[in-house]
Amino acid sequence: MTLTPSHIIEYLFCPRFTYFEYVLGIPQYEDKNYKVMRGRHLHDERLERNKDYLRRRLGRPGAPVVEKLVDQYLTNAFLRGVVDEVLAFGDESMAPLDYKFAEYKDKIFSTYQTQLYCYAWLIEDNFDRRVDRGFLVYTRSNNRVVEVPITDENKADVRRAAEAIFSIIDRNFFPKATKAKARCVTCTYRNVCIK
Ligand code: SF4
Repeated sequence: MTLTPSHIIEYLFCPRFTYFEYVLGIPQYEDKNYKVMRGRHLHDERLERNKDYLRRRLGRPGAPVVEKLVDQYLTNAFLRGVVDEVLAFGDESMAPLDYKFAEYKDKIFSTYQTQLYCYAWLIEDNFDRRVDRGFLVYTRSNNRVVEVPITDENKADVRRAAEAIFSIIDRNFFPKATKAKARCVTCTYRNVCIK
């Protein structure tokens, strides 16, 4: 079994999500229609993307974009994921680029950041190139591009989360509740969870 960035995001929201969903097998409630609609929007947006003009702007001085790999399915021992684009630069570094069907509102969601950290880890493991930043493209804000720095600590954090998830699943370990109690108010598992 390998994990997806969603597993990591859920674990970071509350470690007990992992326990309820994957040890006890209690599904999360999710509106199926919403999922279908979201998929359709994404598809439409992808058709409209203008990828090439983006590329030209993302290089660093002396390190332009030299290659772009689209829809890359990457795996390592823990994780799997599809990266919308992997950009390679003239200084041998690489970066993930992810399209969001969303408006940019002066704040980057931590879930988006975590997703990029996961991709950075996958790219480093698969291409043996350094990744120290990623990009988000907000398609509902006129394809605005936002650069997100990625540190070694960020990559280590998602790796630690992946290890903790396997530990919960393999040992049937009931983890501590999130310290952010406000999250419990709207949590799918609030009726089965002892807070
Ligand atoms: S109710 Fe709170 S502690 Fe329990 S799973 Fe949900 S967020 Fe975590």
